[in-house]
Amino acid sequence: MLFSELVNFFEKIERITARSTIVDSLVSLFRKTPKEIIDKVVYLIQGEIYPDYYGLELGLGEKLTLRAISNAYGIDTYELEKLLKSFGDIGKVAEYAAKRRKQITLFKQPLTVKRVYETLEKIARTTGEKSQDTKVRLLSSLYVDASPKEAKYLTRIVLGELRLGVAEMTILDALAITFAKSIGYREEIERAYNLCSDLGEVAKVLANEGLEGIRKYKIKPGRPIRMMLAQRVENVREAALKLGKEIAAEWKYDGERFQAHKMDSKVLLFSRRLENITNQYPDAVELIRKNIKAREVIVEGEIVAINPDTGEFLPFQELMHRRRKHDIEIAVKKYPINIFLFDILYKDGESLIDKPYRERRKILEEIVEVNDKLMLSKQIVTSDLEEIEKFFLEAIEHGCEGLVLKDLEGNYRAGAREWLWIKLKKSYQSKMVEPVDLVVVGAFYGKGKRAKSYGALLVASYNREKDIFETVCKVGSGFTDADIERLPEILDKYKIDRCHPRVFSKMEADVWFEPKVVIEVIGDELTLSPVHTCCYGKVQAGSGIAIRFPRFLRYRFDKDARDATTSEEILEMYKRQLKRIEH
Ligand code: ATP
Repeated sequence: MLFSELVNFFEKIERITARSTIVDSLVSLFRKTPKEIIDKVVYLIQGEIYPDYYGLELGLGEKLTLRAISNAYGIDTYELEKLLKSFGDIGKVAEYAAKRRKQITLFKQPLTVKRVYETLEKIARTTGEKSQDTKVRLLSSLYVDASPKEAKYLTRIVLGELRLGVAEMTILDALAITFAKSIGYREEIERAYNLCSDLGEVAKVLANEGLEGIRKYKIKPGRPIRMMLAQRVENVREAALKLGKEIAAEWKYDGERFQAHKMDSKVLLFSRRLENITNQYPDAVELIRKNIKAREVIVEGEIVAINPDTGEFLPFQELMHRRRKHDIEIAVKKYPINIFLFDILYKDGESLIDKPYRERRKILEEIVEVNDKLMLSKQIVTSDLEEIEKFFLEAIEHGCEGLVLKDLEGNYRAGAREWLWIKLKKSYQSKMVEPVDLVVVGAFYGKGKRAKSYGALLVASYNREKDIFETVCKVGSGFTDADIERLPEILDKYKIDRCHPRVFSKMEADVWFEPKVVIEVIGDELTLSPVHTCCYGKVQAGSGIAIRFPRFLRYRFDKDARDATTSEEILEMYKRQLKRIEH
């Protein structure tokens, strides 16, 4: 197959956005592609030469690529750099240079996909001294035979800038239509993809062995399995409803998820995004090699950074110190880790992903020899909601993010985010993390036990800019009986007959006060509300920011009304909370 056919496809695909048209074009390309190179074509479409997890790079930057172009076309690198500055796109520089080439080759060989791929592969595998010169020479040899258009796309592939935007799922659709004759088989093909995370491999099996081969496709240690993910809920009750009765609740460690493949004495580690992270964690590799009693396994867990002095957990960002290419031994000493295993997917030739979690966990317990660095995730098995809530608080206290609740009968669903795992994070449960100090500006009469006092207070934040008070919520809970009894005594001396001129309220209170008394309030979250006036219209026209489920904490007699939390601060808190939810 000529490289020009692939390049024509690239050109065409760049101009279309409709998914169905992209699928059609992929199908006609796959139909033309010989079986032996279908995997290579699939990689090249993604602008790569290997699946992501391989972790092998070409090792050619902009400078070396310009050198290769210069050698091939006899144009000075200085001039090429100038062109790059004005074009801003190195692919276009290559195209331009190929058109203006000064060196005319007498026997120009048309490029084939096979040759391009094999040369790029050679470039990736060239290491050691003088490797740069060899890489440039190899790339140059391709430029010599390339047409201007081919030179452009070749450059983009080399520099990882192809970005055609063809999604993995679109490629799977096209593979289904081409080799299984119907998109209806997409799911079965996707299952194989989830087991190997390698679209090239899936294409090769489909092209050579058909749907039968795909159905029989098995986990192969060394190829990462696409990870199972969790759904999220707001509280334990909601999770319990989704999961049924007895569940496994586990600490949700705030670290880096990994999948370890142990093949005899060789261990590979893959990240959540399936990058090869083996080199970053030689200590984790050692722990897994020595403490898992099985010849071949695939296990999953979380790597957590710990404080070397106290052994306490540190936030996940600390692990960034391990993301380096050099001096990893120093980083290993300075930034120690613990690992917590929570799943097993494969053991000695047998896939375990279809077994219920209850059984997988048991197998994990049997084969892992725990020590003070390698442990299993802390877990309770229960149907008692209160116990789960207590466990949640315990997890938070130890620096975890919350809990992951797991269906004990659930299998491992590679690549899926379903209700078999449910995460419960502290930021969802108590989005309003800090209390605020608010000024009492009005009150509502109480009923029943509170008939002689007030049932709820209207409270406001301070708008420093305008020097006014803007209402945020009505607080009716959190008071003890004694607090309620004292309310008239504390507030009535500030009673006025209408809303204070410096109070901006859209609510009609039963009683109004001068803005004097400050109370501390915490709520569950900040939301938009049409009836409250804090930051009115700042986030959304016709709405202010309000506190949901506010609770009185205590009086702040030490504070003046102008010392209350400002509306600006509440707006900041609101924005921070939004970020957390989006995250
Ligand atoms: P998050 O930011 O919440 O980690 P995510 O999209 O990366 O989100 P999810 O699958 O939604 O991941 O949430 C589960 C994540 O929690 C896992 O990817 C893993 O990194 C982490 N985790 C920590 N402890 C556990 C545990 N005991 N069991 C499963 N996952 C755990």
